[in-house]
Amino acid sequence: MAPVLQVALDTPLNRLFDYRRPDTMAAVPSGTLVEVPFGRTRQVGVALSVSDAAQVAPEKLREVVRILDDRPALAAEILKLAQFCAHYYHHPLGAVLLASLPPRLRDPRPFCAAAPWLCLSEAGRAAQPPARAASQRRLLESLRDHGCLHRDTLRELGLVRPARILVDAGWAGWQSRPDIAVTAAPVGSAPPLTADQQTAFDALVPELGHFGVHLLHGVTGSGKTELYLRLINCVLAQGQQALVLIPEIALTPQLEQHFRRRFPGRRFATLHSGLGETDRAENWLAAPDCDVLLGTRLSVFAPLPRLGLIVVDEEHDSSFKQQDGLRYSARDVAIARGKQRDVPVLLGSATPSLESYAHALEGRYRLIELQQRAIASARLPTIELVDLRHLPQDNGLTRPALQALGETLARGEQSLVFLNRRGYAPALYCSSCGWVSPCPRCSARLVLHRSSHRLKCHHCGFETRIPTECPSCGDPDLKALGQGTQRLEETLTALLPTARIRRIDRDTMRPRAWAELGEAVHGGEIDILVGTQMLAKGHDFPNMTLALILDTDGALYSPDFRATERLFAQLMQVAGRAGRADKPGRVLIQTAFPEHPLFRFLQRHDYAGYARALLAERRQLDLPPYTRQVLLRAEAPKMEAALDFLRQAARLAPQHPDVSLFTPVPAPMARVANLERAQLLVQSASRQALQGFVAAWRPQLETIRPRVARWSLDVDPLVF
Ligand SMILES: [Zn+2]
Ligand SMILES: [Zn+2]
Repeated sequence: MAPVLQVALDTPLNRLFDYRRPDTMAAVPSGTLVEVPFGRTRQVGVALSVSDAAQVAPEKLREVVRILDDRPALAAEILKLAQFCAHYYHHPLGAVLLASLPPRLRDPRPFCAAAPWLCLSEAGRAAQPPARAASQRRLLESLRDHGCLHRDTLRELGLVRPARILVDAGWAGWQSRPDIAVTAAPVGSAPPLTADQQTAFDALVPELGHFGVHLLHGVTGSGKTELYLRLINCVLAQGQQALVLIPEIALTPQLEQHFRRRFPGRRFATLHSGLGETDRAENWLAAPDCDVLLGTRLSVFAPLPRLGLIVVDEEHDSSFKQQDGLRYSARDVAIARGKQRDVPVLLGSATPSLESYAHALEGRYRLIELQQRAIASARLPTIELVDLRHLPQDNGLTRPALQALGETLARGEQSLVFLNRRGYAPALYCSSCGWVSPCPRCSARLVLHRSSHRLKCHHCGFETRIPTECPSCGDPDLKALGQGTQRLEETLTALLPTARIRRIDRDTMRPRAWAELGEAVHGGEIDILVGTQMLAKGHDFPNMTLALILDTDGALYSPDFRATERLFAQLMQVAGRAGRADKPGRVLIQTAFPEHPLFRFLQRHDYAGYARALLAERRQLDLPPYTRQVLLRAEAPKMEAALDFLRQAARLAPQHPDVSLFTPVPAPMARVANLERAQLLVQSASRQALQGFVAAWRPQLETIRPRVARWSLDVDPLVF
């Protein structure tokens, strides 16, 4: 009898599918990507095991179409990691496996990987380019030093054209893999370590080579990146690889450049969703041969056979958690991977997540603190509150705020104005009838974007032109309600006409634009940066001495219990942008609640104090990290149907003394893109109890009729 292959497919069904291997086909090792018929379509799947007995009658068994031999089989390590995720997140294994691949490799069309490595040929070893061809000589010298250079490095060094000339001359050639191991790459010049950094480094070096989670808590500007670089250097010297996870696509090029300068000749790969499909597939395929993989959350699944260290930078950032499909936390999966591979995981942040900080306080993670800023003379900025209750405002700006901006401008220094709301204004408003631009598909307001003359929904993408009169009562006098970054930019331009102002938010920034922006700020071409939280992350602008923070009050009394934790982190980050070199920084926060305890801790730069206060509150209220949560979400065209699904789910729940189920409720954002959303919270003090409960519950959920448009389980939800 022909052997039966069990294949994992990307379906909502939580099982594997049997297929017959044609007699003409070679053996199929576990992890091989195959194309199989599925219903009336064909799908890419992952072959997992071979057995003699099929679940299906032999005559119904369909045949594997072909092996996708243009892409490598998934390594045993990745299969194991996917199994962990399927189990922990209660998500079908096939869906996990396929989600771990770049989209292009989930597509059965043949993929012809380009040859990204430029390698020296025999003829190139002795070749002498003409004396005037300086860049060809430079490239040839680099190739003699390093053997091969990646296409990205050539781009970075501006050597793409000389590369073509060397190839035409037969002195170098393109290869899909580098053939010469780069072991003795020189290390770029490193700044001396501060006493703090040295202590941390000495503590961490002996931890290389085995699993452990280390939480590096360092104030902004304390030089966490330098510590990462030193540790990565140790790992590379052993011939191992480092995986560096970062939260923002926008930061990749900047950090990549920094890393490349430090480790010239080392092989880098980057992975993030800002790359085109082909680049993403190629970089994923290049990952096994690289020395350092730098990327956003999806890189946690990349193949790295020589993995020696995982770094999760800005570990508190909520973008590490995927918010649809497989709702995984890349930080938590990184820790699972570190454990499976027996390599250390380094979590870094100036404001660790309360989950990680609690683990560190309880001794499960090792806490390493950097308390000094790396530049000895750099002081932490002073933080002042501007009480909105007693001051008039001009388009959201108070007089002290405006005055501080003017003074900074007069000194020739730079300012940062932070407002976490893009667009021109959060809504359009009719003063005669009270109409406030609702999104027709969501329970949200349409945001006014004046430059593109549109009203846009930031939740479902709906957009429409700006109406000339109120759609409800016909009054033509419609007003912009509140402030967005576009309007703020306009206001500042009017009030400070000599200032050169630049706005940064998701509407203006493409990933590559960061490098250009960095140069413009460093070169003194910008006086005032206006932007959203994108501004808060990881930029060093030494002449930036003022940070002005507008309108944070919404988060102070939000029903979301994580809102203050996030706000504190954001404010610390923004404050950290001010005065990083030898100039003292100043931070002004406009608020109507200056007595809120958050500000007291913030003014003392006391993360630890605030974290302890919040943790005490969470313990008292039985909230994470002292309880574990799973959220069952349901979406349907009618709210009643979504709630009904959840009520049935609650009735089908297995009895468990340590697990509590809450009442099904509409989600805080009750309608998105014409679907009503409801949720059912399940929680337990014991992770094990909750895991066992959900494992028994999940198969029941599949039996519920009538079905809803969509349901999903969110383990450790961050957003409700
Ligand atoms: Zn009206
Ligand atoms: Zn909408």
